[in-house]
Amino acid sequence: MRDILIRNADVVVTMDASRRELAGADVLLRGGVIAAVGPGIDAPGAEVVEARGCVVTPGLVNTHHHLYQTLTRAVPGGQDALLFGWLKTLYPIWARFGPEEMFVSAQVGLAEMALTGCSLSSDHLYLYPNGARLEDTIEAAATVGLRFHPTRGAMSISESEGGLPPDSLVEREAAILEDMIRVVDAFHDPAEGAMVRVGLAPCSPFSVSRDLMRDAALLARDKGVMLHTHLAENDEDIAYSLAKFGVRPGQYAEDLGWTGPDVWHAHCVKLDAGEIDLFARSGTGVAHCPCSNCRLGSGIAPVRAMRDARVSVGLGVDGSASNDAGNLIGEARQALLLQRVARGADAMSAREALEIATLGGAQVLGRHDCGSLSPGKRADVAIWDVSGVEAAGSWDPVAALVLCGPGRVRDLFVEGRRVVAEGQMVTIELPRIVERQNALARKLRD
Ligand SMILES: [Zn+2]
Repeated sequence: MRDILIRNADVVVTMDASRRELAGADVLLRGGVIAAVGPGIDAPGAEVVEARGCVVTPGLVNTHHHLYQTLTRAVPGGQDALLFGWLKTLYPIWARFGPEEMFVSAQVGLAEMALTGCSLSSDHLYLYPNGARLEDTIEAAATVGLRFHPTRGAMSISESEGGLPPDSLVEREAAILEDMIRVVDAFHDPAEGAMVRVGLAPCSPFSVSRDLMRDAALLARDKGVMLHTHLAENDEDIAYSLAKFGVRPGQYAEDLGWTGPDVWHAHCVKLDAGEIDLFARSGTGVAHCPCSNCRLGSGIAPVRAMRDARVSVGLGVDGSASNDAGNLIGEARQALLLQRVARGADAMSAREALEIATLGGAQVLGRHDCGSLSPGKRADVAIWDVSGVEAAGSWDPVAALVLCGPGRVRDLFVEGRRVVAEGQMVTIELPRIVERQNALARKLRD
């Protein structure tokens, strides 16, 4: 692979230990890693990518998604419902999915991620109807070229047992554990620079048993993989936890082994002070999903308090049925706006939002090799053209990236390979995939 020299960027936002921002700087990519950062790098033979008029940042990190939901955006019955009602509208539609729906919707969702600056995305796939398997999404990610952390999700408590999902969408717990072992053994790569890491992710405390939560945690520790689920998403979620388990979600998680630096929970909108302290002490991470929280009316996650307590926080777009967009840089803007609604205009700066979107997400996913542009880190780089109309007249290009735009990258490199060039996907033929996706959506609708 030829070296790549990104040259003459207006600003390189390194996210290194001292958060340096380098004006008029270059970034050299060699063999999948950052070889050098700074002004005037000499790299004979390298392919030169001119970055004048651009801000260069680490690739953004998405810590929570349900890629399959790109096939159920803006579904009428789910547009205005709260979480539990929203789920009950969508479950019967998802029950008709199969491998093709999983593959194509993952391609679409990941392309959306790439175009909005994301180089590393996790995914939470918790239903496997009609022969769908986790590898449907892993294969899709390989075509798109993003670094991918799929999680083997699961639901086991159906409607007839007091849960929410229909019987056809739940699995036996023994079969779930067996498939968790299968996908970790087949696809998880613990090595530095890994393109695929698998996590274990029962859907939520209200869709699986206490036993499965505990067994998944034991299995994850045994295999050295991470744990992920939804936690404390809204008031209904807290009420359910108190009524069913007699404890708040944080206590439930702790009792079952679901805290630690190898665990990250999505949403955490309703964490109280004691739970924030628990997360800080245990190193448990949070996937903050501001657009989804707004969209479902779940509330404002206490991100300021979490960050002040040194809880690891990353950003997530959440599934495309509850956002319904998948714009990761837009999510950074939304995170900033939402904290300000709750806490005032000094609650979060544009630079802090950008840090959460990059370094914060990498930390949450246990990727100490990603999230910053320093020599030796993986060559995951986003180039943002700030010379266009969106940021015209801005005085501070780094803040403008979050406050103004553009909402899309000009170029994106993952592991030193180009995924987006001049605002277009180069790894996949996106228009054809979008057409295929729309045909699948029509089939589901009719
Ligand atoms: Zn979710």
